[in-house]
Amino acid sequence: MKVFRTQQYIRPDLQAHIFSKDLLDNVRKLRSLCPARTKFCAVVKANAYGHGITEIVNILNTPDVDAFAVATFYEALHIAPLAGKRPILILEPLNPVWTVEQIRICAREGFECVLASTEALDYIRSVLADTALTLRVHLNIETGMGRCGVEPELAATLLDRIADNGNIRLVGVFTHFATADEEDLSYADQQIDRFECFLGVHKLKNRPDVTIHASNSAGTIKLPQAHYDMVRCGISMYGYYSRRMSHPPIQLKPVLRLEAPVVQLRHIPAGHPVSYGCSFVPTRDTHAAIIPLGYADGYRRCFSNRAAMKIGPHAVPVIGRVCMDQLILDVTDIPSVELGQMVTVLDNDHDSPCSAYALADWADTICYEILTFIHAHVNRIVH
Ligand SMILES: *Cc1c(COP(=O)(O)O)cnc(C)c1O
Repeated sequence: MKVFRTQQYIRPDLQAHIFSKDLLDNVRKLRSLCPARTKFCAVVKANAYGHGITEIVNILNTPDVDAFAVATFYEALHIAPLAGKRPILILEPLNPVWTVEQIRICAREGFECVLASTEALDYIRSVLADTALTLRVHLNIETGMGRCGVEPELAATLLDRIADNGNIRLVGVFTHFATADEEDLSYADQQIDRFECFLGVHKLKNRPDVTIHASNSAGTIKLPQAHYDMVRCGISMYGYYSRRMSHPPIQLKPVLRLEAPVVQLRHIPAGHPVSYGCSFVPTRDTHAAIIPLGYADGYRRCFSNRAAMKIGPHAVPVIGRVCMDQLILDVTDIPSVELGQMVTVLDNDHDSPCSAYALADWADTICYEILTFIHAHVNRIVH
């Protein structure tokens, strides 16, 4: 397999501090909600939700983590040398666009693949026929997510066909919640009912070789009846509830703090417009700090004239448009700011004016999107 190695450069001036202890504490707290026998699958897709997949998988090489889940084959290939002997589940359903070589590597490496169509099953059969390879698969059951699960009737056929094929081994059956993060859990309850029905009809709970799983972070925190044999946690492991929760049963701590330096300080007279579009015109003489960070680094343009950063304990507003690689802060009210001083861009504190939740509100999105936008060239510093 040709592995493409990029010559990704790193920006040492943009620093994402990763706090290992908080990551491991979050995992332990999530585990404490589940029965002891429930396995913990750490979801590290999308560059570990923007945290840095290499760094995060290295930290998670601990007995508290039983498996990893990634979105793509390429991520699985990347973390395989770091994951110890833990299984790696590839969440993108296996499909005929994958090359023959990819399927064979999955079988050889023991990557666990999601089966979600007859076409995929036929493809695996034809690729592995006449080999001694066995591919480990999880069957994704459609219960209401409406994305890539298989309808229960078709799933029944697939179960039979897997049982008949020596090259394919069923190791998991799962489903995925569409609304577990919402306050009203009635739709999630219906999904559990449909899943239970499928598990019951096919007596899957009696099979020790099959791992049954359903819960993402929200399910792990709010649906104890859906812990089954394994939970798949992403956002909560990084310290966030899928959406802000007023009375969470466990206190999660954000794992990442993003910082950037002040590279220029300047005086802007009252009435002098700031940045592209002249969207900000100060009404007072203003002391401004330039930060070498912009939308190309993942700091969204829609934060212009809205978001804040932190200098020491003080919140400072972003003024004018966020540019591609630069932005401007109003530091007039801050007692002392120095060149080279580090500014907190994204704080590891839920109540901070620049928490991922606050940034998500300004961008009309969810904290997942804010985190995954952090560019790969940001220097990850592991503590
Ligand atoms: C991304 C994903 C998860 C993790 O979701 P979180 O809300 O981040 O915990 C779990 N399962 C599947 C199938 C996913 O795609």
